[in-house]
Amino acid sequence: MNGPVSIEVLRQHLIDPEICIRCNTCEETCPIDAITHDDNNYVVKADVCNGCMACVPPCPTGAIDNWRSVLKADAYSIDEQFTWDVLPEQNTMAVPAVDEAAAALADGSDEADGIEVDTVRGAVVPPWSAAKPYVNLYTHKTPTTATVVGNYRLTDAATSSDIHHIVLDFGAMPFPVLEGQSIGILPPGASADGRAHHARQYSVASPRDGERPGYNNVSLTVKRVSQQHGDAIDGVCSNYLCNLKKGDVVNVIGPFGSTFLMPNHPNSHLLMICTGTGSAPMRAMTEYRRRKRLKGATGKLMLFFGARTQQELPYFGPLTNLPKDFIDTTLAFSRTQGQPKRYVQDAMRERGADVANLLKDDNTYIYVCGLKGMEDGVLQALKEIAEQQQLDWEALWAKLKREGRLHLETY
Ligand code: NAP
Repeated sequence: MNGPVSIEVLRQHLIDPEICIRCNTCEETCPIDAITHDDNNYVVKADVCNGCMACVPPCPTGAIDNWRSVLKADAYSIDEQFTWDVLPEQNTMAVPAVDEAAAALADGSDEADGIEVDTVRGAVVPPWSAAKPYVNLYTHKTPTTATVVGNYRLTDAATSSDIHHIVLDFGAMPFPVLEGQSIGILPPGASADGRAHHARQYSVASPRDGERPGYNNVSLTVKRVSQQHGDAIDGVCSNYLCNLKKGDVVNVIGPFGSTFLMPNHPNSHLLMICTGTGSAPMRAMTEYRRRKRLKGATGKLMLFFGARTQQELPYFGPLTNLPKDFIDTTLAFSRTQGQPKRYVQDAMRERGADVANLLKDDNTYIYVCGLKGMEDGVLQALKEIAEQQQLDWEALWAKLKREGRLHLETY
């Protein structure tokens, strides 16, 4: 007689390689390190993932939200997942008559339905008044094209920071984007293993009605990558983009992102904190509000913007020309000769009383974008500023997240 056969079923969490834009958000969010990646794919370790769902809301494309019911003994290994170009079909032969709920129960993961967001540092929902975004209209398999209509260097030619403002026109092809969303660029060519390069993600720097109002175009803020961890490397996509000429045609996918969006109610305030090219979404939001202001938007705008030097700060000229009664801007330079190093969080502390006034207002929405390293510093500054005003930071932080009022996008 045969021995008992294990039919323990697993609701295996998988990432769709076709729409994943390899932005690393899931790996950073996972509280138990169940997600990893190689040069090809982001994958989930079946023996570690507990289905807590923390990674699902922050994913800009939805690639993370894929599940297959499999016999536990046959779970897809990460080595197998690394080789995938598409997700496998649900194998109905292997797991007869198992629906998702039963599979979750069989796996003992009774929390599979609930979304545990306490481990996430920013909001996983958009502001209540945000417009509805479109996502994934164009994918790796079905990209669209855009024509370069402008490519300008934003930073002083004497500096090593080569940051470009690039304008892409979609012509007659619909490409609706909202401020805070991003798009993917497919650079031509292939990596060493012969596979086509994956898309690189860039935040849109223009408002929803176009870089030029009424035009079907978007702008991007792109820094030429020529170094990584001190070693000389040529960033595949950033060099491609920075070298583009007017009239060149680019393959584009997206749009992506459904939470880092701006509120639309006219009395909402924006507290924006960014470094370097993380200014892209702030420019988009600011410009949208500038255009809307003429139509009665009354909320305040406060911006903290950090760069190495004034010469390396993208959009320095246009930014400093904006009326003071429209936007309250504080710049922080870290490498100005003869001056002490100053980061955005230092500037926030100096303006603590004004930041606190915004923190006390339920119509304030906070956006942080730029270097990963700034996230801790900015959250710490917000905590200190809140506590100086006898605000309970932990309670406020939780409320800001719950209400879609604290958005973090750092790389
Ligand atoms: P960067 O020039 O390297 O740095 C900008 C400023 O941030 C510098 O003054 C730098 O100071 C400072 N800084 C460094 N560590 C900090 C910390 N812990 N706290 C606060 N400030 C700190 O910046 P970048 O090369 O433009 O990079 C911006 C980042 O934004 C990139 O990681 C990019 O991926 C990301 N991003 C870009 C986009 C986009 O659309 N292009 C969108 C979202 C995010 P020092 O170096 O002098 O210490």
